[in-house]
Amino acid sequence: MNKIIMIKYGELTTKKANRNFFIKTLNDNIVKILKGYEVKIKKDRVRMYIEAEENILDEIKDKLTKVFGLHGIVICHQVHTNIEDISSKALELVQAEKGETFKIITKRADKSFPIPSMEFSHKIGGHILRNTDLKVDVHTPEIPLHIEIRKEGTFLYTNEIRGIGGYPVGIQGKGMLMLSGGIDSPVAGYLALKRGVTIECLYFESPPHTSVQAKNKVLKLAELLDAYAGNIKVHVVPFTKLQEEIFKNVPHDYMITIMRRMMYRIAESFAKKRKCKILINGESIGQVASQTLDSMRVINEVVSMPVIRPVSCMDKLEIIDLATKIGTYETSILPFEDCCTVFVPKHPVIHPSLEKAEEYEKSFDYEPILKETIANIETMTSLKSNTFEDLL
Ligand code: ATP
Ligand code: MG
Repeated sequence: MNKIIMIKYGELTTKKANRNFFIKTLNDNIVKILKGYEVKIKKDRVRMYIEAEENILDEIKDKLTKVFGLHGIVICHQVHTNIEDISSKALELVQAEKGETFKIITKRADKSFPIPSMEFSHKIGGHILRNTDLKVDVHTPEIPLHIEIRKEGTFLYTNEIRGIGGYPVGIQGKGMLMLSGGIDSPVAGYLALKRGVTIECLYFESPPHTSVQAKNKVLKLAELLDAYAGNIKVHVVPFTKLQEEIFKNVPHDYMITIMRRMMYRIAESFAKKRKCKILINGESIGQVASQTLDSMRVINEVVSMPVIRPVSCMDKLEIIDLATKIGTYETSILPFEDCCTVFVPKHPVIHPSLEKAEEYEKSFDYEPILKETIANIETMTSLKSNTFEDLL
């Protein structure tokens, strides 16, 4: 019979009350990520099975390694539940593998099958010993052969690929990710997705001080994150006017503090419009002047929505490692000006005071500009930045 993909949910199975919702969301996400492939998906309380033509199974498996909520992915062989079929498939599979030692690991989920797991492993092991030169090693076998006996049939496999874990994207509702072209915010987005949060992205641009390339870089990053979620939207904030007003009116050491307070105000207001429950960003404690605890406190003061900072306690090198692993690093390090780097003062305040920040803000009438800025936020309908490469 067929080769199929079997998926293990892992962590999900411990969440009994929400299990159906989890599995349904996971199923929907898999359908989304496999759009365009001809597949048949079946699911039960502990496993999901994906049937497709054999020549596309590997490709599908690769896509699944980016789906959150998945803890194990195996390409396995399904046979009818009888000793003859199982033992001949078991023999065929171990013979196809490289190695000199093996172990049979049987899981009898279908208790109507009369032979207990241990006894069955011995039986199949005996068949392999009689027909090959392989030896048994129960501790560190080179070829571990798994046999899962289930209602739907028996599944055999030798290699299990670890999924990326986490919860299915969508089970937690929505968050607004402040996505810049840097290294940190895409990683922050990834980590939020990993805990089941759907994300939309907000990017502040300041043309002509920032380039089209800078914006395309952000779109590219969103596209890379999209592989983990499907359907990510990017909203672009026209930030030039506000930033110029800040530059004109605010003492330069407080420019970044005030700029970030404005960003937060815009982000919260727009996030509410988009029915997001939290803001997410890539701030990391102590990384730059605006991310000292004092700065964070003064900046955070302007919003009441929770702000989640998934990388706040990570070292830069740890963030870089993760960015590399998830595939965003190479894009993040492309050298395009971002709006924060254009208006950077020589000596930004490291321990700002709330009173001063509030006082400086009173020096110009920012409310109407904020309103206008929010009204002019543009939503990108297509992430496909095929023009991205052309622009480099
Ligand atoms: P780097 O990886 O170089 O630190 P960064 O994008 O993290 O770049 P920071 O100045 O550290 O830049 O900004 C902290 C956080 O603020 C970012 O992680 C991002 O969430 C948000 N942010 C900064 N600039 C922008 C922007 N232009 N648009 C949207 N969000 C931004
Ligand atoms: Mg940063």
